[in-house]
Amino acid sequence: ADRNPGQPEFLQAVTEVMESLWPFIEKHPKYAEHGLLDRLVEPERVVMFRVSWVDDHGQVQVNRGYRIQHSMAIGPYKGGMRFHPSVTLSVLKFLAFEQTFKNALTTLPMGGGKGGSDFDPKGKSPGEVMRFCQAFVSELFRHVGSDTDVPAGDIGVGGREVGYMAGMMKKLTNRADCVFTGKGLSFGGSLMRPEATGYGTVYFADEMLKTRGRSFDGLRVSVSGSGNVAQYAVEKAMSLGAKVITVSDSSGTVIDMDGFTTDKLAILMEVKNHLYGRVSDYAERTGSRFEAGVRPWHIPVDVALPCATQNELDANDAAVLIRNGVLCVAEGANMPTTIEAAKAFEAAGVLYAPGKASNAGGVATSGLEMSQNAERLSWPGEEVDARLLQIMKGIHAACLKYGTGADGRVSYVDGANIAGFVKVADAMLAQGVI
Ligand code: NDP
Repeated sequence: ADRNPGQPEFLQAVTEVMESLWPFIEKHPKYAEHGLLDRLVEPERVVMFRVSWVDDHGQVQVNRGYRIQHSMAIGPYKGGMRFHPSVTLSVLKFLAFEQTFKNALTTLPMGGGKGGSDFDPKGKSPGEVMRFCQAFVSELFRHVGSDTDVPAGDIGVGGREVGYMAGMMKKLTNRADCVFTGKGLSFGGSLMRPEATGYGTVYFADEMLKTRGRSFDGLRVSVSGSGNVAQYAVEKAMSLGAKVITVSDSSGTVIDMDGFTTDKLAILMEVKNHLYGRVSDYAERTGSRFEAGVRPWHIPVDVALPCATQNELDANDAAVLIRNGVLCVAEGANMPTTIEAAKAFEAAGVLYAPGKASNAGGVATSGLEMSQNAERLSWPGEEVDARLLQIMKGIHAACLKYGTGADGRVSYVDGANIAGFVKVADAMLAQGVI
């Protein structure tokens, strides 16, 4: 904490990982040698830079840009870019740290990174968003590359923003390398990448439910968020027969006890992806119930899928979900559950998966996009989806392998942390003190 003052999210992520790793490291002391743990919690490189751009009124705006290059131990730095006013060094360091283990879990050769800016895309014109993205890349371009660091999207960075950044990257480097994933299909993107994180989260939750002899069919599901991850989590849960009864954003929650339908989801996607509106606009258009300033967790459900942002589900929310009989909580977002809430779920015997396991489908499919770019081919959507499903099943199996205790209880937190750690740590030990 002395080394990282004012970085609560980073310290929270490191604490969570170290608490679950410690018993394993005590049994395998080689992992405490060669300064391994000290090196692992220190990003290899942090780049912070000024982004100046001109708004529609001719005023100069200044934002701060970041790229955290956490670990290259098993492959090029890889992780998304987040544009949101809540972005700080602490938030991006936590995300880059987590990303390192997540990427290891996918079994693909990707290191860990994360970046972004405190730029708020809400209320900005399309021209402003493009000029910001171009200004951002005019500095970022010298720090990334297809074998160095391959960014992608995250909160506030979707296909449109990735397109603008990839375009500027080409202009500055005169190269058509794959330096971003999440690209449009017409310039090197992969089929299924937009769907991958939400679908992958549901595939993972389905594997968890199977361990209790259950499936999504007929279950009530609450989803938080209404962005990329949330939308495709809703779609896949519905297709497996679940009744999805909530979505949300930072303004409040939509509650639909009849459950989402394909038609309602199409309206939500239109409102969020094309009109850049709020879930309250969706509620107005469909006549659904909207609760302002409220999160979805008070609604009784069998499965909860937090898909919005960090620390959006706290100990009080967990207590309510547990009282209401929740069976399974799988994170589509990164660290949406506080440490206390996660511990409460595990203590109550709820199936609980941390994002580094359950939402790894997004980056896994980014890895598949990199492979397709490298061989200059594009695979059919069914092939990418089948690989995604296999990767999610593989991560689930790794969690069971490393997370099953002597009493037979499974901790997905321990399983994911240990499985990801072992791969990164072995690679670091083999490559010497660097
Ligand atoms: P989007 O920008 O598409 O959607 C984000 C959603 O979260 C929006 O509904 C947004 O609401 C809500 N949200 C953001 N910040 C807050 C906040 N402070 N309080 C309440 N709600 C908030 O992002 P994604 O769907 O891509 O990302 C969602 C989560 O999933 C993030 O944690 C991200 O790191 C994680 N993730 C994403 C992956 C991907 O492939 N996209 C991969 C793996 C993880 P509002 O519009 O009101 O801000």
